[in-house]
Amino acid sequence: MRLNKKLGLLVGGLVFAAVSHAGPVQVNGNSQFKPTGKGWGELDNVASANSDGQAGGAANKGTTNNLTLHTGNPMTGPIKMYYIWYGTAWDAPSQSLLTTWGNAIGGSPYFNINTTYYNHSNVHVSNSVTLAGQTSVGYTYGTNLTDANIQQIVADAINAGKVPSDTSAVYMVLTDKTVGESSGFCTQYCGWHTHGTINGADIKYAFVGNAETQCASACGATSPSVNSLPGADSMASIMSHELEEAVTDPQLNAWYSSFTGNENGDNCAWNFGTTSTASNGAKYNQTMGGKNFLIQQNWVIASTQKCLQHYP
Ligand SMILES: [Zn+2]
Repeated sequence: MRLNKKLGLLVGGLVFAAVSHAGPVQVNGNSQFKPTGKGWGELDNVASANSDGQAGGAANKGTTNNLTLHTGNPMTGPIKMYYIWYGTAWDAPSQSLLTTWGNAIGGSPYFNINTTYYNHSNVHVSNSVTLAGQTSVGYTYGTNLTDANIQQIVADAINAGKVPSDTSAVYMVLTDKTVGESSGFCTQYCGWHTHGTINGADIKYAFVGNAETQCASACGATSPSVNSLPGADSMASIMSHELEEAVTDPQLNAWYSSFTGNENGDNCAWNFGTTSTASNGAKYNQTMGGKNFLIQQNWVIASTQKCLQHYP
């Protein structure tokens, strides 16, 4: 999840501030890029070019964000999601809001965009996501986490039996507003997803931090935010981004653009489409579980690939 790039631009009444960050890699017509799960590509030194089926024709070369299916497969589901709340500074309304989102994302017209993605057997991603469990941990690894710490937090929760080991799940490590992530939270990304081997199982997991008091402008919190929970309100959009990428590109080798390394969420980051105005003046564009959310659009795989708010 790349940082908010709407530099000082007034979009639908929301002012987004600028923060320096490592931008996307430059397109090189002779290079192939692969995703990192952090919203920008890195050069793929593996000879993967032969497996690339580039969609859309010659006009795309070197300029396209169009996604193609590479050697790996998406998770076709049903998908389970597990929350690991990290830190003791969480408040009940924020946890409740993100639980509402987690209980409502599956089956939504928004998540249905992901059903346009398919695997090498032409099985499409299902619109089935279940928030199957949640657990809380204290500051086991302090308040400035490394990428390795994030995987260890997932492993600890599995090893303690707080969440099951499930290769068809996405584990969300959600850190409270006092916690940093040393590989670039707030300066290079707002969240990321990847996978790792835990007890011999390939586990897909994501990090999403609460930016409320650390980098509200960089990671999308708006004032006012639609539920007056600026940290959690912005996390709902970042979690949507990471979930849809974890599902369509769980091992960073399935659906992405060879030319930019972008995954589906990256192509529509900070693109909210048409918005409505809530009673407190905040913008929103989705209603799930009876709550309003401002959630970025997602990329549809169709004859014309583009960002949508819902599918169909
Ligand atoms: Zn991303």
